[in-house]
Amino acid sequence: MTQDIFKIYLDRLRLVPQQEIQGSVNPDFLEVADGRLFFRELIEIKGSAYLADDHLILHLDVTTSYISFCKICNEEIATPFLLEGLYITEDFEKGALKEYDFRTPLRDAILLEIPLYTECQGSCPQRASLKEYFKQSV
Ligand SMILES: [Zn+2]
Repeated sequence: MTQDIFKIYLDRLRLVPQQEIQGSVNPDFLEVADGRLFFRELIEIKGSAYLADDHLILHLDVTTSYISFCKICNEEIATPFLLEGLYITEDFEKGALKEYDFRTPLRDAILLEIPLYTECQGSCPQRASLKEYFKQSV
């Protein structure tokens, strides 16, 4: 499966008002390997790229879901992920940039949106029993 969706060719982009970006990519490019976070669905990317003077601007919607684990009971939690209206911008000197790969900035933007800790249903049902446990053990 090609991941060329990440590549923006500046020469091509200069000829058109904007370039549509649309596709699904394998989540492998996120390179998440801490064992607490998993992406099992394709990452849907939809948006456009355009030039404004010396700036390349990408405007994207990103949709997928991720698996994390409850910090209390360690249950698996599947959370839908939607990042709407993400802007990625890159400044460059005229003619200096031939192509731009937005894989890394997109990866950073996605991972930044994911909370460090999750808990089932916003408040884990196990909390109460854990509290009880802590009380007894004191
Ligand atoms: Zn839980």
